[in-house]
Amino acid sequence: MALAEVNEQIKNCRKCRLWQDAKQAVPGEGPDNAKLMLVGQNPGAEEDNTGKPFIGRAGKFLNKVLAKNDIRREEVFVTNIVKHLSPENRKPLPDEIEACAPYLETQIKAVQPEIVVLMGKVAWLAPRVEGVTYMETYHPSAAMRFTKMKKRFEDDFNRLKKLL
Ligand code: SF4
Repeated sequence: MALAEVNEQIKNCRKCRLWQDAKQAVPGEGPDNAKLMLVGQNPGAEEDNTGKPFIGRAGKFLNKVLAKNDIRREEVFVTNIVKHLSPENRKPLPDEIEACAPYLETQIKAVQPEIVVLMGKVAWLAPRVEGVTYMETYHPSAAMRFTKMKKRFEDDFNRLKKLL
């Protein structure tokens, strides 16, 4: 399935309860042939307002780490394992993750990235597609707050740069 088609399905999805409290779905953003895909947990308030992924504080921190490693964000496909905002920004529930994860799998199959970076424990639950290399790191919102996590996050992106 083409990326545009799955993104359209996401925009109209009612498979779990999350769409009810959200303004819109945030399918993801980036080239449909990106070599690198970044996956977070789910959209926050700013993402919900705009329909764009990772544009709040965590997104700005992520942009800085990408830039430091000469990775151009415009060349990366950025998305989340769950495509709608959660009420009061709570973690998505297991049934919501289960309902939404097949969209991510379809997106990975459409984009065919070489590497998928799963950011944060919820993203670590993402479906694995054969032939794709997966890397697990912390979520940028945790990495920007805790020194130890920040170091590991920055080291992981430094390692990633060498793999691309
Ligand atoms: S979070 Fe995912 S499964 Fe739930 S309604 Fe939104 S797109 Fe559908």
